[in-house]
Amino acid sequence: MELIVLGAGGFMPDPGFPVPGFVVRHEGVNYLLDAGENSQTQMAKYGISRVKVGAVIISHMHGDHTLGLPGVLIRRGQEGGEEPLKLFGPAPLKDYVRATQKYLSYTLHYKTEFVPLEESKSFDLQNLKLTTQPLIHRLEAHGFALQVPRIKRKFYPEKARALDVPEGPLWGELQRGEVVELDDGQVINPEQVSDPPPRGKRLVYLTDTRPLDNYPPEFQEPDLLIHEGMFLESEREQAEKKFHSTALEAARVAKKLNARKLLLTHFSRRYDHPGVLAQEAAKEFSEVDLAKPGMKIKLS
Ligand SMILES: [Zn+2]
Ligand SMILES: [Zn+2]
Repeated sequence: MELIVLGAGGFMPDPGFPVPGFVVRHEGVNYLLDAGENSQTQMAKYGISRVKVGAVIISHMHGDHTLGLPGVLIRRGQEGGEEPLKLFGPAPLKDYVRATQKYLSYTLHYKTEFVPLEESKSFDLQNLKLTTQPLIHRLEAHGFALQVPRIKRKFYPEKARALDVPEGPLWGELQRGEVVELDDGQVINPEQVSDPPPRGKRLVYLTDTRPLDNYPPEFQEPDLLIHEGMFLESEREQAEKKFHSTALEAARVAKKLNARKLLLTHFSRRYDHPGVLAQEAAKEFSEVDLAKPGMKIKLS
């Protein structure tokens, strides 16, 4: 699983400071998280195929997260994309896309399936598990966790042979983590012949939002947490009023979730040098970085 940053600005698009857009690439499939203005050109710039977009996941309907979507959809079709496309997001996402199709008069030659998000829920994507969680923002918004499914257990044939487990279907069952019983009544636990399965990599995306009191289990211990940190703590009042987070609050969320790394995003244009946001977050959580267009982070 790899993350590619298309844009990390907040609210106002500006040359050299593109608005939110992130691509998670896994086994040749691209998942687009939010689609700010210029998403299609940013994807072209960083060599990301629109045709291989397997799903689009939109956090909320504010323009800085959605204005680039029609362009991506049109270009996917123009470049020969035929595979069906799933679009996850708040319920109005469907009307928005359908309205642009009607008034901009374009047809998509591939199927689109809209999945409206409501309460916290998990979905199986082509090769990742998606879990969503409602956020606290000025309008309906959702956070996401993307997880690589559990990797197979490491199996030790010599241990299985030593316990007289015959080679064949029983080996497969043990590899899948099942308890098996031999003909002589002996019960074998998978732990006797294999290592515990390593957890697949996990990425969590939380923007735009105030910090939550509780997060679902699927959001715990992410290898990478992308969290908005729009303001400095000195402007917390603004953050609260506009339902955004400060960089320090983002760092506290990273600590609370026991994240490996925090990537701050959605910076206010009021800061000429967003490095001050990372400095503030680092007081609470040292493994912090600022999202920058073109940045690539490999998680596995
Ligand atoms: Zn925003
Ligand atoms: Zn917003």
